[in-house]
Amino acid sequence: MCGVVGIYAPGRDVARLAYFALYALQHRGQESAGIAVSDGQKIVSHVEMGLLGAIFDEEILSRLRGYLAVGHTRYSTTGSSVVVNAQPLLEQSTIGEFVFAHNGNLTNHESLAETLSPDLVLVATSDSEVFSKKIVDSDAATMEDRLAAVMQQAEGAYSCVVGTERELYGFRDPWGVRPLCLGQFEGGGYVIASESCAVATVGAKYLREIEPGEIVRIDEDGLHSRKIVREEPPALCMFEYIYFARPDSKLNGRSIYMARYEMGKQLAREHPADADVVMAVPDSAIPGGIGFATESGLPYVEGLIKNRYIGRTFISPDQAMRSQGVALKFNPILENLEGQRVVVVDDSIVRGTTTPRIVRLLRDVGAREVHVRVTSPPIVNPCYLGVDMATHDELIAANLSIDEIRRKIGADSLGYLSLEGLVKSTGRPQNEFCLGCLNGAYPRIPALAEPIAVR
Ligand code: 5GP
Ligand code: MG
Repeated sequence: MCGVVGIYAPGRDVARLAYFALYALQHRGQESAGIAVSDGQKIVSHVEMGLLGAIFDEEILSRLRGYLAVGHTRYSTTGSSVVVNAQPLLEQSTIGEFVFAHNGNLTNHESLAETLSPDLVLVATSDSEVFSKKIVDSDAATMEDRLAAVMQQAEGAYSCVVGTERELYGFRDPWGVRPLCLGQFEGGGYVIASESCAVATVGAKYLREIEPGEIVRIDEDGLHSRKIVREEPPALCMFEYIYFARPDSKLNGRSIYMARYEMGKQLAREHPADADVVMAVPDSAIPGGIGFATESGLPYVEGLIKNRYIGRTFISPDQAMRSQGVALKFNPILENLEGQRVVVVDDSIVRGTTTPRIVRLLRDVGAREVHVRVTSPPIVNPCYLGVDMATHDELIAANLSIDEIRRKIGADSLGYLSLEGLVKSTGRPQNEFCLGCLNGAYPRIPALAEPIAVR
């Protein structure tokens, strides 16, 4: 996972716009962040490990002057969490320097790396660098032709932004696994961003999604679009709807908030509970919790207060820190829980680290019964396309039955949303999604042919 932005806005403070757009995408990655700016002559970049607010200050932003900017915030899936893997990547090529920002995961980065000229040295360990070095290695005369050529060879998920000295590009893999959208500033200029919430944050108007397999180029003549020839069945990541995207974003015209609210309503129909109150695990499950309460006619209460200044439980890719994170993050509201039969709604159970701790926390403050409801089906397969979902061994639902999970998490009852119910809540047809983690229906990407057979 990652967040990417591109700003093309002559006459405006593009570094600051990129900064605020990235701030709106901080949930997509908290390991490193960077902004690169071009004034038409040269590219200046600032990239560091850590959260956006800790990296950029007035002095740094004021040094980033230009009319186009590329920004990135990172959550590593392939390649470790070190500064050489932080983005945007700055590259020199025979057609000038450029910066590259990637969200996704290439499934063929190893074989792609073998096709690089031997004189090109990979300094990072990420799949993203292979893509940017392929651009460097291309002998096409324009950046657009280079991107089109690399897109023909790259497989997997890539929603990217590229900035040259004078042009901004946004492009998306032919499956459209990760989101990427386009907005326009009043009075001229464009913004490209992973999610529409970032477009709104910088005061631009949302125009449309960048299409799967499309390259958008923005330069002094305006906006140009080109669809690369290869057509693939669409495979937008369902986990964006379940968990990843911000609730105030829209995907394919559908509000994420409303989709999650519907998931909660649908879940209440599928797995009603004999209980007194409904609560959600903040923040991501709140729309689902409100939906569940509305449909079931039970009062919605706040059972846990989340400390927003502590990073996500996934912030450290290390299991010991992750476990510690849960306890540091939530404090219960005793008055809403004591003596109550509580329905607790969460958006997903991945490894099964969070839920048992939450159940224990609720029981410790006197909840009489705890009924866990999850607004997604069991996650039974890993993600090869950019979500940090780990391996089969680590996925609790890949190894235990629902009743075994219920016992392990210590709940009085457990109910997962059905796949049909989930799809219905999105308001989009099932064949638009990658459902690999839920039922093994990965997009038809050659490297994924094998894992599909797993279950
Ligand atoms: P688990 O603790 O079972 O491994 O993960 C489930 C919890 O983590 C849920 O509360 C869910 O909201 C959250 N979660 C699920 N997927 C991700 C992810 O990719 N990143 C982060 N940071 N949290 C996640
Ligand atoms: Mg959560």
